[in-house]
Amino acid sequence: MNDKKIWISSPHLEGSEQKYVQEAFDSNWISSEGSNLVGLEKDLENYLGQNCFVGALSSGTAAIHLGLILLGVKAGDEVICQSMTFSASVNPILYLGASPVFVDSELDTWNLCPTALEAAILDRIEKGTKPKAIIAVHLYGVPYKIDEIRAVADKYEIPILEDSAEAIGSSYKGQQCGTFGDIGVLSFNGNKMITTSGGGAIVAKTKAVKDKALFLSTQSRDNAPHYQHSEIGYNYRMSNICAGIGRGQMEVLDNHIALRRKMHAFYVDLFKDLSGVTVFQTAHEDYFANYWLSAIVVEPELTNGIDRETVRLALEADNIESRPLWKPMHLQPIFEKYPYYGNKVAETLFEKGLCLPSGSNLTNEDRARISDVITRLFQNNEHS
Ligand SMILES: *Cc1c(COP(=O)(O)O)cnc(C)c1O
Repeated sequence: MNDKKIWISSPHLEGSEQKYVQEAFDSNWISSEGSNLVGLEKDLENYLGQNCFVGALSSGTAAIHLGLILLGVKAGDEVICQSMTFSASVNPILYLGASPVFVDSELDTWNLCPTALEAAILDRIEKGTKPKAIIAVHLYGVPYKIDEIRAVADKYEIPILEDSAEAIGSSYKGQQCGTFGDIGVLSFNGNKMITTSGGGAIVAKTKAVKDKALFLSTQSRDNAPHYQHSEIGYNYRMSNICAGIGRGQMEVLDNHIALRRKMHAFYVDLFKDLSGVTVFQTAHEDYFANYWLSAIVVEPELTNGIDRETVRLALEADNIESRPLWKPMHLQPIFEKYPYYGNKVAETLFEKGLCLPSGSNLTNEDRARISDVITRLFQNNEHS
């Protein structure tokens, strides 16, 4: 077995991060205030456009938690959430004592299905609890059906929390993901498009909402000479050190997007003649995806019996990491008691889908190894 592991998505630092971190050390601003925080927030606001206001936080999960608070979610409320996602989209609903209502995906974007969403809202209203918010996710950097989801949300006057943790740099009709929700969320965890080691951000439509998020994130200190508090506080602010890493990463974000898209194009080419394997891609020119992760769907009826697991194990045997798609939340032991609306789109995708190595730091040699494993697996199969 090759002793160099190929990861699905690993941190990719390119050099200038250290300059900003050094500045923080030199000035002794190493905590929750400083020029890197101001600089990173400005960089993100410029990048996203739409006159948005960005607050840098300790994680994407923290941003979802504060986002739900700012949308007015309280104990006993219900919040709709896309079932096929990472658990961090859902956990903050439970931190607040509210409960999730899960909704299926559709096949074009693998994200929230507008029809199932409306059915869920109508049924919850009939049962006496109108959902307080909708969490919509851009999985793997592919934008959800922005116009259709917005139309349903507006019809029932329910705000959208846009989980754009995987989608910085993706866009819909030229507008950046992160700016479509009533509140948007970004993540800079180590495995995302860009990293601050760990971190996230909240994207607000007004300065007042951003300021409120930062107030909550720094222990909700009232304006007084002593420590005075009239609201529950959180310790969710990003540090000025991490923000320094983020400033360096913003300089290479567009390059990271180009390199992830190059990985995606590599897979489209690799699988183009293999019937039964499809590479997930945007179906329409309005959608621009950063392809944070490249994913395939394997149909064993068309591949002579090779299924998702066969591909995963063949890659693993050569020390190449791959992983099934997000297991839907309504199938998770911790969440299975909550209501679910939809059919089996997310379940089927989970059964047949696989995420492949997608990092912006993968090399020609890495691609050759992946290509070898896949080519060998499907060639042997033809001859058997
Ligand atoms: C990574 C991720 C999060 C959480 O972000 P953290 O910064 O790791 O807390 C939330 N939602 C989705 C869809 C993610 O992929």
